[in-house]
Amino acid sequence: MITRNLSALAQALAGKEISSVELTQLYLDRIARLNPQLNAFITVDAEKSLAQARAADQRLAAGKGCPLTGIPFAQKDIFCAKGWRTTCGSKMLGNFTSPYDATVIAKFDAAGAVNIGKTNMDEFAMGSSNESSFFGPVKNPWDISRVPGGSSGGSAAAVAALLAPAATGTDTGGSIRQPAALCNLTGLKPTYGVVSRYGMIAFASSLDQAGPMARSAEDCALMLNAMAGFDERDSTSLDRPTEDYCAELRTDVGNKPLAGLKIGLPREFFGEGCTPEVMQLVEAALAEYRKLGAETVDISLPNMKLSVPAYYVIAPAEASSNLSRFDGVRYGYRAPNYSDLNDMYSKSRAQGFGAEVKRRILIGAYVLSHGYYDAYYLQAQRIRRLIANDFVAAFKQCDVIMGPTSPSTAFKLGEKAADPVQMYLSDIYTIAVNLAGLPGMSIPCGLAQGLPAGLQLIGDYFDEARLLNVAHRYQQVTGWHLQHPAELA
Ligand code: GLN
Repeated sequence: MITRNLSALAQALAGKEISSVELTQLYLDRIARLNPQLNAFITVDAEKSLAQARAADQRLAAGKGCPLTGIPFAQKDIFCAKGWRTTCGSKMLGNFTSPYDATVIAKFDAAGAVNIGKTNMDEFAMGSSNESSFFGPVKNPWDISRVPGGSSGGSAAAVAALLAPAATGTDTGGSIRQPAALCNLTGLKPTYGVVSRYGMIAFASSLDQAGPMARSAEDCALMLNAMAGFDERDSTSLDRPTEDYCAELRTDVGNKPLAGLKIGLPREFFGEGCTPEVMQLVEAALAEYRKLGAETVDISLPNMKLSVPAYYVIAPAEASSNLSRFDGVRYGYRAPNYSDLNDMYSKSRAQGFGAEVKRRILIGAYVLSHGYYDAYYLQAQRIRRLIANDFVAAFKQCDVIMGPTSPSTAFKLGEKAADPVQMYLSDIYTIAVNLAGLPGMSIPCGLAQGLPAGLQLIGDYFDEARLLNVAHRYQQVTGWHLQHPAELA
């Protein structure tokens, strides 16, 4: 049962092969057994999950179910969920119980899905390894001496270890795609504005976007159907006609399903920087795509190399502003001893935030300060535009862009923790996509020494349906996405 995809689970529920309560209990039991080793969840609340499962069973019995009704999903702890502790991986919110639902959570609730727990993450989503979480690092189920990637590492580890059928993640610079790559999952970061950010704790508001992390493109499409849509409570949410992301997946297209598709291969993704074992698997995946009828064309994204430096100005700038709300006054952590109001602010923030978050706040305040704004922040915004223009030019030559998701497979816990720049380089292939606001995916493309590698697919604006279809056609003829790590003892 636990290796079934979402539509098979929906069928099992509809056919009364299993109830939602039984299915939820199955996952809760696995979490109880395996989470102590993996640390994928920050909060599990069996009572709450089972209550939702009971409601789902009633809804199914009444014939009012929809595709996700009764299916458990793990929710990244960046989403406010009413009545649930919502920490964002930080001591600052360690005692915070959300009084309201994020739109993403409300949409899963409305679909009748079960929240199986809140997943561990890098503190305020800042990181690529999950080591910055106040609640301790997450272990990669493929090798527990290694990181699962970040910041959505808890979601990735939970799905890879079959502690949940699928999960939500958020991606500011790669946090859905990179952990998906390191844990053998399929993950999608939608076009900026497709999924509401309301109730999703803000890191860098102009880059943050939520999306699905699952075991196949088909599962991601089903989840995106539930997650996407205009939300008047998010001023950057886009009012567009709703799409059925599964529609294209259902069509039968013969043995050259991707005939006519042009895949752009940016020179900058295929030069130095990527380990040979990942590159070999990416090349093999591209060969598979050619067999499916696609054609590859060489392209260039000349400003790609500026994406990491531009991101590490813009993201901290926005974070320094967003995180100013955590002042110990209204909610969150407050230092126990202080002399006056200013002392209360500074002690609460000094004690409540971890080292990486403080580093970003300092950088952000610096680049926004008078005298440095023009030299750093404005310059970074100009680079951001150049990068977006590079993609506009590239999509005149091709339909999708492909390359590696992450330069290496999962690295050892602690390996990059002392060197922030090495850590920041984990996202060299993913960050430009966020700066441009484009949709991006990672799909499993093989194992190197037993560790998963990811192929990245980048689409033009609002081309999620095409990306999902292109991923799905590969998954119909390959089995990498069906591989699971060995069961933990
Ligand atoms: N690793 C990047 C960072 O640390 C991206 C994180 C993310 O996408 N949330 O900022």
